[in-house]
Amino acid sequence: MKYIDEFRQRALAQKLAASIQEEADSNRQYNLMEFCGGHTHAIFRYGVQDLMPSNITFVHGPGCPVCVLPIGRIDNAIQLLEQHNVILCTYGDMLRVPASGRKSLLKAKANGADVRMVYSTQDALKIAHNNPDRQVVFFAIGFETTTPPTAVAIKQAHMQGLKNFSVFCNHVLTPAAIQSILDSPEVRDIKSVSIDGFFGPSHVSTIIGSRPYEFFAKTFQRPVVIAGFEPLDVMQSALMLIRQLNEGRYEVENEYTRVVTREGNLKAQLLVAEVFEVRRLFEWRGLGMVPNSALQIKPHFADFDAERRFKLPAIQASDIKGCECPSILRGVKKPTDCKLFGTVCTPENPMGSCMVSSEGSCAAYWSYGRFRQPDDKTKREGVAV
Ligand code: SF4
Repeated sequence: MKYIDEFRQRALAQKLAASIQEEADSNRQYNLMEFCGGHTHAIFRYGVQDLMPSNITFVHGPGCPVCVLPIGRIDNAIQLLEQHNVILCTYGDMLRVPASGRKSLLKAKANGADVRMVYSTQDALKIAHNNPDRQVVFFAIGFETTTPPTAVAIKQAHMQGLKNFSVFCNHVLTPAAIQSILDSPEVRDIKSVSIDGFFGPSHVSTIIGSRPYEFFAKTFQRPVVIAGFEPLDVMQSALMLIRQLNEGRYEVENEYTRVVTREGNLKAQLLVAEVFEVRRLFEWRGLGMVPNSALQIKPHFADFDAERRFKLPAIQASDIKGCECPSILRGVKKPTDCKLFGTVCTPENPMGSCMVSSEGSCAAYWSYGRFRQPDDKTKREGVAV
C-alpha cells in the first residue's frame, strides 16, 4: 500500500536500528517524548522500543485528546443530559471515560439519557435537523486536527439559522501543552520528568505546520522532529533527534515531509480563526490549568456555544483514587507503575481515561502486551516490523 508498506520494511528498520546504535552516545541518556498517542501505539505495536539501545527511552506524553480531558468536563456533559435533557452527540471513545461518582456517558445512556455516537460533526448536524423540538449538543474534543470540522459545523448551523444545535467546545492546542510540560510549575515541581527532545505530532502538524514549534525548540533548547505514524517514521525521527542532541542543535525538523509543511493548512487555520478564539485558561488532566491552551467559540457565534446556552458551571473533580493517569500524561510514570493496571483496570473495565481511549498509554501497554518482559531475542529483533 502506497505510503504504508514502504514505511514498515523490516530490512530498513534493521538498518535504521544499526545507525541509531552507532550514533547514540553510550555515555548519555536520551529521553524522547512522543506527544501524540498515535506514536505511542506505533512504538508498541511494532516493538520500536525494543530496537533501540538501552539508553534511549520513549516517554509517553499527553497527546491523547480523550485522555487529557478533565473529569469536570465529562461531568458537564452528563449535566447536559440529566438537567437539560439534550441529545448529546459524541465520538465513541468518550462514551466509557469515567466521570465523577463512577458515572460515564455510557452509563447515562443505559439510564435513559439520549447519547448518540457520531463519526463526524455532519452526523450531529443531521440529528439536529431531524429533531427540531430537541436541543442537540455536539461534544467537541480534540487537538488542532479535529477543530476545522467543528468550525464548519458551527458556520453551517449559523448560515442555516439552526436554533437547536450547539457545541460543547473542548478543543485544545498542542504547542501550549508541550510548552507547559517544559515550563509549568506543576511539571517542574515534580522534577522527575526529564525530556531531551520531542517527536512532533503528525496529524496536528498537517494543520498548524511545523512553525509553531520553533519558539520553544529555541527557548527551551529541546529539538523537535515532526514524525509520521509508521514504524520507520518513528525510527528515522529518533535518529534525527539523536543527531541534533549529539551536535547540540535545538531545531524543528520535519521527517513527515510527505504531508507536513512549515506553514500548514492555511485554509483550515483561517476557518478556525473565524469561529474560535484562544481560551485564557483551560484545565488538562495531568497538566492542571494551562494558559492559552484551548479554544472557545467567538462571541459572533455565541448562539452555538453550549457553555453559554446552558450556563455550564466550572466543575473541579478528581480522578479515582489510585489512578495514575495524570502522572502518565506528564511523562512521569508508566502504566505499569499504576497499582490498578491489569487488576481492577482493564479495557473492559477502565478506571481512567488512559485505558479507555484507542490512543491512551495504558490501552497501548495492554493491547500490545508491553507489560510482559520480552526475552532477549524478541527484544533485539523487535516484534512486528
Ligand atoms: S491503569 Fe487504569 S487506573 Fe491506572 S493509570 Fe491507567 S487508566 Fe488510570
